[in-house]
Amino acid sequence: MGEPVKQHDASELAAGYTAQHRTYEICGIIVALASSGWLIARIVKCPPLSGWWMPLAALVGILLSDFISGFVHWMFDSWGNLDTPVFGRLAIRTFRHHHVDQKAITTHDFIETNGHNISLTTIYSVSGLLTLRSIETATLFDVFVCQSLVCATLFTAFTSQIHKWAHQDKPSGVVALLQRARLILAPEHHAAHHAAPYNRNYCITVGWMNGPLRAVRFFETLERTITAITGIVPREDDLGADAAFEVASENGALDDADEKKALATRD
Ligand SMILES: [Zn+2]
Ligand SMILES: [Zn+2]
Repeated sequence: MGEPVKQHDASELAAGYTAQHRTYEICGIIVALASSGWLIARIVKCPPLSGWWMPLAALVGILLSDFISGFVHWMFDSWGNLDTPVFGRLAIRTFRHHHVDQKAITTHDFIETNGHNISLTTIYSVSGLLTLRSIETATLFDVFVCQSLVCATLFTAFTSQIHKWAHQDKPSGVVALLQRARLILAPEHHAAHHAAPYNRNYCITVGWMNGPLRAVRFFETLERTITAITGIVPREDDLGADAAFEVASENGALDDADEKKALATRD
């Protein structure tokens, strides 16, 4: 990459973590714990509770949480800015800050690290509760879906914690063992995300989905489609206009007309 990357100021981004934001995270954690506890209590009452398919349900849950971590990460890394309604201050700021200061996450306490992700798991629990509206008529498939969602809840809840461990200089022995076994995100795998051209390895729970998504050019195709429709260049707010334009060009996200249009506006 030849163009210089232009990012936001780290201390300004860090100052965006306000008391109100923390209160929202604490409330989110309470709601998430209550809803996931309620879902587990309903699953336990279902007759087709366990079987050979339970490890498969767990695997589906892990892959789902890894995919969601990548999709949400890609969305907030690539689009919008600090002034984007609702998400700008609530989510995009955190992603910008992490790219400017990768080590800051290792100094965050439990709530600042995990509040967002734990809160988000409420979506899984509510989906599970809607699936299990009636325990009497619940099918094996319903229970399978709900057990997958419980597993996804666990992994999504601790995705930021796992991501934090990947940035720690000396994680504990157990964590290092899990990283080496690739049962959680490995630091060297995640390092590719923070290196030019800054558009790889978005999945940060276990990282297993990064290979398949790259093989089918999942995010590249989405970027090309969004840029073709809107003309917006991905990662412009994160990398600065010039570097983002260069990455998009290399990705084939800009067709000839887009390139000419973008070049014209830059001249
Ligand atoms: Zn990122
Ligand atoms: Zn990172």
